[in-house]
Amino acid sequence: MPDAPNSAPTPHAPQPIGPFAALLGWVLGTALQLQQAVLSPGWLVGILALAGGLLCAMLLRLRALRLSRAQRLGAWLLAAALMGFAATGLRCLVYDGQALDPALEGRDVLITGVVSDMPQRNESGLRFSLETEAATLEGRAIAVPPRIDVGWYGGLDSMAGGQLALQRQPGDVRAGERWRMTLRLKAPHGSRNPFGFDYELWLWERGVQATGYVRAGSSDPEPKRLEQTWKHPVALLRQLVRERIYAHVEQRQFAGLIAALVVGDQNAIDQVDWDVFRATGVAHLVSISGLHITMFAWGAAWAMGWLWRRSARLCLALPAPDAALLGGVLLATAYSLFSGWGIPAQRTCLMLAAVALLRMAGTRWPWPQVWMLACAVVVGVDPWALLQAGFWLSFVAVGVLFATDAGLPGHAEGVLRNTASRLGAMLREQWVVTVALAPLTLLLFGQVSLVGLIANAFAIPWVTLVVIPLSMLGVVLPLLWDGAGLAIALLMAVLQGLASWPWATLTLATAPWWMAAAGVLGGLLLVARLPQHLRGLGLPLLLPVLLWQAPLPPVGQFEMLAADIGQGNAVLVRTAHHALLYDAGPRYSLESDAGHRVLLPLLQALHVRLDLLVLSHRDTDHVGGAAAVLTMQPQADLLSSIDADDRLQSLRPAQRSGRCIAGQHWEWDGVQLDILHPQAADFDAPHSSNAVSCVLRIQSAGAEPHTALLVGDIERPQEQRLVALQAPLKADVLLVPHHGSKTSSSELFLDAVQPREAWIQSGYRNRYGHPAAEVLQRYEKRGIVVHDSPHCGAMTWRSDSPAQTLCVRSEEMHYWSHRVP
Ligand SMILES: [Zn+2]
Repeated sequence: MPDAPNSAPTPHAPQPIGPFAALLGWVLGTALQLQQAVLSPGWLVGILALAGGLLCAMLLRLRALRLSRAQRLGAWLLAAALMGFAATGLRCLVYDGQALDPALEGRDVLITGVVSDMPQRNESGLRFSLETEAATLEGRAIAVPPRIDVGWYGGLDSMAGGQLALQRQPGDVRAGERWRMTLRLKAPHGSRNPFGFDYELWLWERGVQATGYVRAGSSDPEPKRLEQTWKHPVALLRQLVRERIYAHVEQRQFAGLIAALVVGDQNAIDQVDWDVFRATGVAHLVSISGLHITMFAWGAAWAMGWLWRRSARLCLALPAPDAALLGGVLLATAYSLFSGWGIPAQRTCLMLAAVALLRMAGTRWPWPQVWMLACAVVVGVDPWALLQAGFWLSFVAVGVLFATDAGLPGHAEGVLRNTASRLGAMLREQWVVTVALAPLTLLLFGQVSLVGLIANAFAIPWVTLVVIPLSMLGVVLPLLWDGAGLAIALLMAVLQGLASWPWATLTLATAPWWMAAAGVLGGLLLVARLPQHLRGLGLPLLLPVLLWQAPLPPVGQFEMLAADIGQGNAVLVRTAHHALLYDAGPRYSLESDAGHRVLLPLLQALHVRLDLLVLSHRDTDHVGGAAAVLTMQPQADLLSSIDADDRLQSLRPAQRSGRCIAGQHWEWDGVQLDILHPQAADFDAPHSSNAVSCVLRIQSAGAEPHTALLVGDIERPQEQRLVALQAPLKADVLLVPHHGSKTSSSELFLDAVQPREAWIQSGYRNRYGHPAAEVLQRYEKRGIVVHDSPHCGAMTWRSDSPAQTLCVRSEEMHYWSHRVP
C-alpha cells in the first residue's frame, strides 16, 4: 500500500484491530441506547440492526477491501455500535410490551403463580417474587406481567367497612410453591431524587413490571397454597439452609450475618451492623459482591489445580491449568447461585466465564482486549449494568487484578507454579484491590472509610479464613455455626472500636460525571505501570473532583429542594452558608424511614451540614426520618412543635431545642426567615397535632424579594386565623397544606398567599387520596401551577430564578421511568 509509512518489517505482527473495535463498539452502542428518554420505534430498531448486520457481513466477507487500519477500526466500531443499540432496543420493546395495563392499577386481581425467590421476612410482613401463570379480574382472564414483587403484611386492615379488623397474618411461603392469591397491583414507582437510588431502573433490570400486596382482609378470599413445584430448587434449598441457621444459632445478630454469608440474605443483617460495616469499609466482605465472587473463584481455581495435580491420569485427560480454570468458574457459579444469584454475582460469573473460555481456547489476546470482552459480554446480557456503580467497581477490580497479573482464574496457572505463600498472595491481592478501589469508591459513593485500611487488614483474613469456612461447613455440621458466632462476635468488637474513631469516614460532594470520569482516569494513571511522565498526568486529572464544591445560592438568595419521600414533608432550604431541613419525611416500616433511605444520602451527596432541623409537628409522615437526621447531623439545632417529653427531644439538649412560636425571626446571609404560626397560647389549649404545625416564611434580599411559604399540615381554621391576623402570607411558592387534603387550602387562604407555584408532597396512589380533586380545582381556577411528587419527583426552586420549578423526573427522563398517568 502506497500510504504505508513504514516498509521495514516490524518485530511483531500488529494485533488485528477488528475484535477490540467490535467489542468497544458494542458497549458504546448500548451505552447510547441507555441515554434515550423514550424507546425508539420498532421500524427504526429494525433498520439499525439491518445496517449493522450488512456492514458486519461486508467486513467479514470482503477481506480484500482496501481499508486502512483507521478505516477498518471505524467501520467495525460503527457496525458493532449499530448492532449493540438495536439489540438492546429490540429487547426493551419486547419487554415493554408486557408492562402492566394502567387500568389494572388499584384493582383486586386473582393471580396464580409460583414463588420464584426465597421470601424475605421482616417485622411488618413478608416479601417475595411471584412468577405469574394466570390472572383473572372479576372472573375474566387478563394478561399481567410475568414477574411481580409481592408484599404480604399483617396488622390492621383499616378499609374493612370503615372499621378496624385484624388482617390474616402472612402465611408460611416457600420458594417453588404455587399460590393463588388476590393482589392489588401497582406500576413500578419509586421516589426520584438528585443522586438518589433509581428504584424503577432496579426493577426494570430485574424484570419486575408490577408490585402488589396481598389482599388479606377478613372479607377477601383467602390466599391458597396449591402445591409445591420443582421450579426454583436452589431458592428452596437456600431457604431451608437459612431456616436451619436460625434454628441453631440463638443470637439473631450472628444468625443474620451467617445467613448473609452462606445464602446471601443481606436483609438479615441489622441496620446498626450495616452502619458499622460501612463506616469501617468492610461492607464488601459481607455482601456477595463481584469482588467476593472473583476472590472465591481465585481460591477455588487454586484448590482445584492443586487437587488435579495429585493424579497423573486426570492430568493426562485434561491439563491441570484447564481443570483449575474450569473448576474455578464452575464453583464460583455454584456459589453465586446458592448466594441468591444477585445481579453483581451474575455479572462477575459472566466476566469470569468469558475470560476462562478465551484462555482455554488458547487465544492469546492482550489483557485490555480480554478486559473489553468481559465488559461486552456483561453489557450484552445486562445492558443496564453500565449505569450501576457496583458494575464499575467490580469491572475496575477485575482490571486491577489483570494489570497486577494475578487473581483471576485465568492467571491461576502462573500462581500455581509459585508454590510458596499462595494463601498469603491471595489475601494480599484482596487487600491491594481494596486499597486500589478506595478512590473509586469515594467518587462513586461519595464516601470512603479512612480506618478501612486497618479494618480490612484484620477483617479480610479473619472473614476469609475463619468466618466464611466455619459458616459454610456449618451447613453439614451445624455445631460449627457456634464457632462462626464466636468469630463474628470478635470481629464486631474490633470493628465497633474502629468505627467509633472520629473521622472514621471521609465524605465528598457528588461531582458532575465528567469530573468523576476524569478523576477515575487520573487514579488509574497513578497506579498503572507507566513511565513517570505519564503517571504524572494522573494528579491534575484527579484534582478537580477532589476540590469540587456543589454550587450554592449567592448571598441574599436561597434554594429550596422538596425531596421525593412519598407521603410526607421534607424540604431542604439552603442559603449561601446555611441550611435547614423542614420536616424529615415519613417512616415506611419498622426498619426503614425517609431519613435513612432518602435524606441522609441526599445531604451527603450535596455535602450539606444542617444548621437547623424544623419539625412542623409530631405526625409520623413529618418526623419519620428525624431520628436518623438528628443522629447523623449532630451540629443541627432543633425547632419544632413537638412535646417536651417526645422521644426525639432526647436527641438534643434542651438549650439546642426550641419551640416554634409566631414572631421568631432570624437572618441567614441576607435571607429573612420568620415563623408565622403557632401562637404561644395555642400550645396551652387542647389541640390536634396538625393545628400547631410550624409555618415558616423565607424571603430573599433585594429590591424585588421572592418568598416561599412552608405550612406543614395546617387546616382551614389555622388558615383563616393567619389571614385574619394579616400575617405576611403572600408568596411565590407555597408548600400546599396537608398534602392537598380537603380540610385545607381554603379559598380565602389561597387568595391571601397568591402563589405562582404550589408544591404537593404526597405518595403515588397514597391511601388518603391526596391531593383531593376539589382542592386541585381551587388552585387551577386561580391559574396556580401545581406540582406533585408522584409526577415531578424531587422539586427544586431558586429565588434568583423564580419563574419555574425544576422536576427531577422531567429533567432526567429515561425510557424505564414510570410515566405517571
Ligand atoms: Zn402530613
